Amino acid sequence: MRTGYVAGQKVRRFCAHGRARATVPVPQSASPAKSGENKSVFTEVSMALLPILCYPDPRLNTVAKPVQAVDARIKSLIADMLETMYAAPGIGLAATQINVHERLIVIDVSEDHDDPLVLINPELVGTSTAKHLHEEGCLSVPGIYDGVERFDEVQVRALDGEGVSRVISADGLLAVCIQHEMDHLMGKVFVEYLSPLKRNRIKTKLAKAKREERN
Ligand SMILES: [Zn+2]
Repeated sequence: MRTGYVAGQKVRRFCAHGRARATVPVPQSASPAKSGENKSVFTEVSMALLPILCYPDPRLNTVAKPVQAVDARIKSLIADMLETMYAAPGIGLAATQINVHERLIVIDVSEDHDDPLVLINPELVGTSTAKHLHEEGCLSVPGIYDGVERFDEVQVRALDGEGVSRVISADGLLAVCIQHEMDHLMGKVFVEYLSPLKRNRIKTKLAKAKREERN
């Protein structure tokens, strides 16, 4: 892999790398597959792992702008985001988390990680009235899990990875994940729903983990 990651690497190492490379520009298409190699879209050759911003990085509070066109740049970004999410490993990643402030999300809640969902310019068009508390984690807040209240069901209108408008109805884990990722696009991290006391504890814990990482 271009960036030297190893599958199964600790998530906080992933984040530390993200800090170190936080100023890299929006990723462009990675090096193309060598001629003669019939590589699938999920090869290491054609995709790149992207550094993930770590809470409390203020760039996580940026409100994303709509994607203007589902073009080659966005398709390349989608491929890189999926690779990054699977490698982390995680079930969802918003562009905000890789310091790209456009309304783009990738999700895969399937057991076998073979059912990717791409949401571009997602808009909530319906919700259940019922809400429940669900335990959440986040690739930008490694090792922290806590409860957030979310709608049980959501309907979302979004463009897919080919730029086709669709309405997705979701419940269960997918509904929670969509709400979590859409919050990222609004500059909100799930721990910001928690009490100030809990948030401060989390900041202290993450800062300690970073110090240990450097040693
Ligand atoms: Zn998250």
